Amino acid sequence: MSSSYDLLVVGAGIVGLAHAAAAAERGLRVLVIERDGHAAGASVRNFGHCCITAQSGELLDLARAARERWLSLSSAAEFWSTAEGGLAVARSAAEAGVLEELAATRPDGGVRLLGPEETRKRIGGGLDPAAVGGAVLEEDVRVDPRSAVARLAAWLGRQPLVDVGWRTAYLGPEDDGAARTSRGIVAAARTIVCAGHDLDYLFPGAADEAGVQRCGLQMALVDAPTAGGSPVEIAPAVLTGTSMLRYPAFADTAAAAELRTELERTHPELIGIDANLMLTQRPDGTLLIGDSHVTLGTMPPFLEEATSTTLLASAAQLLGVERLTVRQRWQGVYASAPQAPYLVADVAPGVTAVSVTSGIGMTISHGLAQKVLDELLAAA
Ligand SMILES: Cc1cc2nc3c(=O)[nH]c(=O)nc-3n(C[C@H](O)[C@H](O)[C@H](O)COP(=O)(O)OP(=O)(O)OC[C@H]3O[C@@H](n4cnc5c(N)ncnc54)[C@H](O)[C@@H]3O)c2cc1C
Repeated sequence: MSSSYDLLVVGAGIVGLAHAAAAAERGLRVLVIERDGHAAGASVRNFGHCCITAQSGELLDLARAARERWLSLSSAAEFWSTAEGGLAVARSAAEAGVLEELAATRPDGGVRLLGPEETRKRIGGGLDPAAVGGAVLEEDVRVDPRSAVARLAAWLGRQPLVDVGWRTAYLGPEDDGAARTSRGIVAAARTIVCAGHDLDYLFPGAADEAGVQRCGLQMALVDAPTAGGSPVEIAPAVLTGTSMLRYPAFADTAAAAELRTELERTHPELIGIDANLMLTQRPDGTLLIGDSHVTLGTMPPFLEEATSTTLLASAAQLLGVERLTVRQRWQGVYASAPQAPYLVADVAPGVTAVSVTSGIGMTISHGLAQKVLDELLAAA
């Protein structure tokens, strides 16, 4: 480690790593500190889905910028990625209506409508007989969250301008602008705190002002079901009707209001757990399945078995199989705030907090980091 840095980044989740990568690219000498021995937060517990096509407005711009970064970093840092896109499956006329309306708002492409047979082929052969079609979300990309974040951190640590200090907790700013850590004082011209949902431990005033809470999600890892004797292969990230209530480009359609009423009537069990029924396939064939949402200040550690049962039964139905074999279950937690999808706040002299507060950190972090760094450097 050097004795002084241009930038201290707190947190080695995707938000912190994206800022470290963007800062090093701009010629800054960077130290990343992470309180754990490796990233174990939201960034390794998610679907690895960069849900680009379904964003709108500024989020779409940030997501598109992030897309290019994910693909170039995937090749530089040698982690798996795929640009096969997303697949939104429609299982009712209302769901098909949302996809048609979204496709109509993207005359230059990006949303390609499919019939039921084409949808079935893209989901590996099995599909809920109720499916009426789908849409390819062409700009979406995927990474494997468990390996991408670890490899990105390792690659950053090998760059000449970057040091990474594991098992080193940030404790707060000193009066002279230096940072106090669990391993001593660090001298850095600026600090960017990317502590995710734990912002309130460090800067409770900023977290309270933005209304930051914790959103807890239940997930499972399952074996790939078989079709014709072989494990299914599902290249795209798979989204469903509940996803259409969540991501802005879907949710802003007129058809989405009708869909909510329909799902409240036909699938109260999914609405009751605030589900976003989705799945992605990891490079080893296993499927990441989720998720449910509960938002609270402090997250209870207990997994609700009824929630897992609902999600797994719905995923099995989507894949046209009777049941799925679970390998792992876990809870993921991310920062959530009602006012804005991300927070960038000056929390002390020379200290900026950045947190994605809407569950799309894998989608926008690399774009958000470029914006934050450009603005900080322009103001310097
Ligand atoms: C189940 C689940 C599914 C999701 N699916 C998707 C998806 O498919 N697509 C998508 O775009 N987004 C998804 N998200 C959201 C996405 O994962 C998050 O927005 C993103 O990972 C947040 O990144 P982060 O770096 O802020 O947080 P984290 O990954 O939680 O990282 C924060 C890091 O800061 C460290 N830290 C905290 N305090 C300190 C301190 N004082 N000192 C040092 N280190 C500290 C923590 O140890 C942690 O490693 C999902 C989230 C969950 C939970």
